Amino acid sequence: MINVLFLGAPGSGKGTQSENIIRDYGVIQISTGDILRKAVKDGSALGKEAKNYMTQGLLVPDSLIVGVMSERLKGGDAKNGFILDGFPRTVVQAEALDEMLEKDLKYRLTHVISLEVPDELIYERITGRRSCPACGRVYHLKFNPPREAGICNFDGEKLICRDDDTEAALSKRLKVFHESTAIIKPLYEKRGIVLSLDGAAEPSDVYSKIKAFLDS
Ligand code: AMP
Repeated sequence: MINVLFLGAPGSGKGTQSENIIRDYGVIQISTGDILRKAVKDGSALGKEAKNYMTQGLLVPDSLIVGVMSERLKGGDAKNGFILDGFPRTVVQAEALDEMLEKDLKYRLTHVISLEVPDELIYERITGRRSCPACGRVYHLKFNPPREAGICNFDGEKLICRDDDTEAALSKRLKVFHESTAIIKPLYEKRGIVLSLDGAAEPSDVYSKIKAFLDS
């Protein structure tokens, strides 16, 4: 069974590569960003608390996100393998995850994949990103445009730009990534379970390397 953790800046391809792994390995994906966006959309207490941080491109407090994650991992669907996308993002979260997995849930991370992409390319990828509010499919104005400009290929919905995919929020998200998130990689390198990849390469080439790693 595989339990995968993706590390990488926003727009490094974690979502795209997760879709490939889900298709081929039958695992579930747990994305804290998706959980929080849904909470904001639903107007729940969690969403109200998280919204301002998210719009500004800042991390929501560790205590809040650790609670969310611990509840989510208790759902029985994680037992056949999972991909974590967007958590942990700080050392405190990484330590909390270890505790959740090892003590409470008896799981362990089997593979950590770090997608490395230069900031200039991240800007291009993120500011051109558009998504369908109905089905969640993600497009890019230049790299993966929909057949009809601004419209989802699958359900005809008008595509939207995420609140935090603006240039101002993105520069904060990248700063947070370099200051907090990037420093957790060594914690996993010590365990010998990290594969670092050039996330600027063709997505299919990136996935071939991921597959070889997961099958090894
Ligand atoms: P993402 O879709 O993973 O880029 O997450 C979108 C936003 O949700 C982030 O910019 C944060 O505001 C918040 N968020 C998601 N995951 C976490 C996390 N593990 N810790 C703190 N904030 C998070």
